[in-house]
Amino acid sequence: MTKWWREVRRRLGVAAAAGLCVASSPGAAALAVDVGHTLAAPGATSARGRSEFAFNLDLARTLARALEDRGFPVRLINEDGLIASLQARPQAASGTDFLISVHHDSVSEHELRPWEWEGQALNYNDDFAGHSLFVSRDNPDTARSILCARIIGARLQRMGFVPTHKNGRRRAYADTQHAVHYYDGLAVLRHARMPAVLFEAGIIKNRDEELLLRDEARIRLMADGIATGLAACLRNGLPADGEAEADARP
Ligand SMILES: [Zn+2]
Repeated sequence: MTKWWREVRRRLGVAAAAGLCVASSPGAAALAVDVGHTLAAPGATSARGRSEFAFNLDLARTLARALEDRGFPVRLINEDGLIASLQARPQAASGTDFLISVHHDSVSEHELRPWEWEGQALNYNDDFAGHSLFVSRDNPDTARSILCARIIGARLQRMGFVPTHKNGRRRAYADTQHAVHYYDGLAVLRHARMPAVLFEAGIIKNRDEELLLRDEARIRLMADGIATGLAACLRNGLPADGEAEADARP
């Protein structure tokens, strides 16, 4: 059992022993939600000219709300898009129990095709679509990172979201079925002192998927799936409220 997990169990155990609902307890595991990229370096540009940062911000804010609805204290990192460095992200997450970095995927330069949208010369690729997840073996809790990633992936697939396997061409799988990949060098994951996952929500160069990724109802649905997965992962193995007393009933 890792130090991190002992600490979470200890805190949750204290909350349960005090007769508190874990879901509303200040002792519940805290999560950091990182908005990928910055205003100055906003990542890829979508098929219709929107920055990846704008997509990341929408999903990260919605995910933070979904986690708060489940009783988790949440720290939203880089909401203003002004964070100084990649290392500053895990530093900003310090003291939380889990870090998820929210991104949207693109394709390689040579896979792009030109097109025009509303008078703008842009590019696209419709060959790939879907989400994927990344973990680092240089993170101090790779096992918990993989577990949470695969539970998020499983939950999303159960809801009908289909993952992409395009990243399997370059990144080894930690879990093939749920499109969880190793990406050891990712700074945000490797410098984190807590388990960490990078989530790619979909491919913004895909003209159909871009529209889905901008749809508010679908963003809420995806955030709900991720939050449900994280809740399952972080509370895994803990007794439900009242379970300790249940055996003592006459
Ligand atoms: Zn990104």
